[in-house]
Amino acid sequence: MTGTRRLLSRLRDLRAHGSAPLSTLVQLVASELVSEVCSVYVQRPGDILELAATEGLNQDAVGRTRLRVGEGIVGLCAATGTVMNLPDAQNHPAFAYRPETGEEPFASMLAVPVRRSGRTLGVLVVQNRTPRNFTDPEVDDVETVAMLLAEMLAGSGATDGSPEGLAATVPRLFAGTPLMGGIAVGPVVLLRSARPVIRLLADDPKAEQLRLEQAVVHMQRGLDDLFADVPHNGRAADVNASREVLEAYRLVASDAGWLRRVGDVIRGGMTAEAAVQRVASELHDRMRRISDAYLRERLADMEDLANRLLTALTGGEPVAHVPEGAILLARRLGPAELLDWHARGIAGVAVEEASPSGHAAILARALGIPALGSLRGMLDSAEQGDDAVVDADDGNFILRPEAEVRRAYIRAQEARSAKYAELATWRGRPAATADGVGLKLMLNVGLSLELPQLERTGADGIGLFRTEIAMLARGSVADVAEQAAIYARVLDEAGDKPVLFRTLDLGADKLLPGTVTEEENPAMGWRSLRVGLDRPALLRRQLRALLLAAGGRGLSVMFPMVATVAEFRAAKTLLLAEAKRVRPCPGTLRIGTMLEVPSLMWQLPDLLKESDFISVGSNDLLQFLFAADRGTPSLYDRYDFLSQPVLDLIEQLVVAAKAACVPVSLCGEAASRPLEALVLAALGVTTLSMPASGILPIKAMFAQVELASFRSVLSAIRRSGGTSLREPIATWAREQGIII
Ligand code: PEP
Ligand code: MG
Repeated sequence: MTGTRRLLSRLRDLRAHGSAPLSTLVQLVASELVSEVCSVYVQRPGDILELAATEGLNQDAVGRTRLRVGEGIVGLCAATGTVMNLPDAQNHPAFAYRPETGEEPFASMLAVPVRRSGRTLGVLVVQNRTPRNFTDPEVDDVETVAMLLAEMLAGSGATDGSPEGLAATVPRLFAGTPLMGGIAVGPVVLLRSARPVIRLLADDPKAEQLRLEQAVVHMQRGLDDLFADVPHNGRAADVNASREVLEAYRLVASDAGWLRRVGDVIRGGMTAEAAVQRVASELHDRMRRISDAYLRERLADMEDLANRLLTALTGGEPVAHVPEGAILLARRLGPAELLDWHARGIAGVAVEEASPSGHAAILARALGIPALGSLRGMLDSAEQGDDAVVDADDGNFILRPEAEVRRAYIRAQEARSAKYAELATWRGRPAATADGVGLKLMLNVGLSLELPQLERTGADGIGLFRTEIAMLARGSVADVAEQAAIYARVLDEAGDKPVLFRTLDLGADKLLPGTVTEEENPAMGWRSLRVGLDRPALLRRQLRALLLAAGGRGLSVMFPMVATVAEFRAAKTLLLAEAKRVRPCPGTLRIGTMLEVPSLMWQLPDLLKESDFISVGSNDLLQFLFAADRGTPSLYDRYDFLSQPVLDLIEQLVVAAKAACVPVSLCGEAASRPLEALVLAALGVTTLSMPASGILPIKAMFAQVELASFRSVLSAIRRSGGTSLREPIATWAREQGIII
């Protein structure tokens, strides 16, 4: 029996007796490979490699010797994922001396990364006194042991260093390269092409070779079926490019060279699947080092094929169900895989290692799937089923987006819908009722990618710019310069149209990564303007950025979640103080408040003296008015905007504001609902701010309404005293033939 086969068979015996301690494994490797030192370093949270077991170095160093990833030979091996074979390690420039290990006498060193599913879990090290290079068969043996060790470490929950617990909950933004434009919002499906290889060692190489050959035949048949379904329509250039990609792929599939290499590994005593995995990981290492785009694509194809072979051999990860509109996340993606997943109905793709000229990108364009590439580190942060956004128009991938960010993207997506095309004819017409009452229909936006909606919808301006959305999307509050650039872009795009900036409304369901809220009722807790007033530096920074962005143009700013006139006054004072410092000063400076907290209704006389305008935030106002959490789905329909208390409140506000000559608008979701918009206009709120998808339908609805006659109908309905006014209003609209 050769040394390798004997080592493998002893390792198998060891595993058969349950989980072997690392100390036994290192003893065995040291004795079978006749090396003086064998050590295992395990990766711990925080990118630390810790000496977890050793044979030959001082036992005292176990658990004490620690290196950062990238530090020393071991750290370098982990960081680059490559084998380090050094005859004289201590004279290598990266060597990091750790006196407690007692490793001075050992000159030669072989460090092999312990990796599983592309993640580095640790490093296996062998050392000898004699300065020499380790031979290829020796390297092969240590790599085989490293594979086994990877299974052991994965089973014991070793980490790859990502902060435990945190990664699974907080939103993450990754900047990527657009491969195919578009937006997709949906649950994540992680591409795991094959089950982890559990059976590594085999007794009968001939039987394994046979299994391999059968799997190759099976795989090739599968490819023939798959390629038959490639789209024939679409842009001619894309169709031709995708055909070329598949032809090249077919050539690789029939290439005997890499299959021969798999056969060699099988003869060394491994199972067919372990051998394929080993060759795939070698290919991956080679790919990392090759800069030639063509060769990289060939190797990527081979890797894709190796993964398909693994799936054929192990049965693959069962893909129980691909949820509607799912987003596929992959480290790398071969063309055949993309076709497979397209057939299963994915709506978007995010890939760690893919470029616009790559095969996956070419096919994504042919298939019309929004796709992003070059998303380093994305996969390690994602869990199956996480929510995600592929924004391939702006190159952003957002994992676990805040509800508000998600909604913003859904709005952006909706705005592309076919219905929108039908309504496009309303774009250039002014918003007015059939009897000539003019309205202002404005946009609620929060991301720069939504700005083109101004042009597309013909909206009269931006009635609510939610400044916190861009901060949530980038994961932190930007500095003054970056914020100023964001706001200046908004003003540039808006041109002559007015923009209302709302200061940061963070807290409640809009939490930045790392923010922990221990409050029982965060929606009524330390959020929004309360944070700004308690952390004036944060608010001042934003106010300065807004003033700088205006650069002499007009500026309108409003504050969210104001509960007392004193709070409004304090915020206004900060803004006026900043305005004195920033040059040029804005052409006009209008300072207003949102009305979201009902308490303001009893402070109207004072408030109206100080506020230049009021914008009703009906989403929050209703939750506080009815004490009904806006985020609880079961309460969604329980209280109606079209009810006496809400209408009475709006009416009182309009009457008081009119007397004080203070304009009132409404910027909650209610503005985009036709019946609500109609009632608001009848009550005198003729400036409505809403998501882009609402503008044209609302405009079309108003054009069909005689507002004067609806006013008297509404008065009669209110006098009749029913709890919900919705039904009688809807009946009237139906009878008038108003299409909503
Ligand atoms: C509102 O509360 O109605 C509002 C517009 O603000 P947000 O939805 O951002 O809380
Ligand atoms: Mg609000």
